[in-house]
Amino acid sequence: MSKGKLIVISGASGVGKGTVLGIMMKKRKDLSFSVSATTREPRPGEIDGVHYYFISREKFEEMIAQGAFLEYDAHADNYYGTPQAQAEEKRERGPVLLDIEPKGAKQVRASVPDAELIFIMPPSMEELERRLRGRGDTSEEQIKMRMERAVWEMEQRFWYDHVVVNDEPERCADEILNIIAE
Ligand code: 5GP
Repeated sequence: MSKGKLIVISGASGVGKGTVLGIMMKKRKDLSFSVSATTREPRPGEIDGVHYYFISREKFEEMIAQGAFLEYDAHADNYYGTPQAQAEEKRERGPVLLDIEPKGAKQVRASVPDAELIFIMPPSMEELERRLRGRGDTSEEQIKMRMERAVWEMEQRFWYDHVVVNDEPERCADEILNIIAE
């Protein structure tokens, strides 16, 4: 059997990727989620091994040295990366969703040419800032940093295969499901 496709989903922090991915996975049971490793602290409600593997900087750097990542990047003062072995294992069972930012997406495009790259846009910058503040766990300084990064990330959307707007999570999830069903 051929391996499942890698589906990369990018979009600024706060755009609602988590919600959209959750809806997609409820509707298509063959989809699985690539759990990234990160050195950042868990947010309230985040579970180790479900949302991320929360690991130390030392461990992350050890994994880089071992070539254990399909892609990785350092941003917002932390490392984030896709463990290669896990992604490969999940591809045996169907398409795999990767929630990663543009630098990582570029690495995936280079190493896995048939990966499908999808970029999620917020309806507006005002709405993105409102959603970031709504999380309640982000300092003023972090919000400024994330908004600046969002502008840069959104400039990267032009080299993605598809751009979708998350005006409403259910609708956005359906649009992506249609794209990947093609
Ligand atoms: P957050 O800290 O809000 O969970 O994620 C911040 C950013 O890191 C998001 O844009 C998310 O897509 C990205 N990210 C999460 N996991 C990975 C990963 O494994 N690799 C890369 N390159 N980016 C990731």
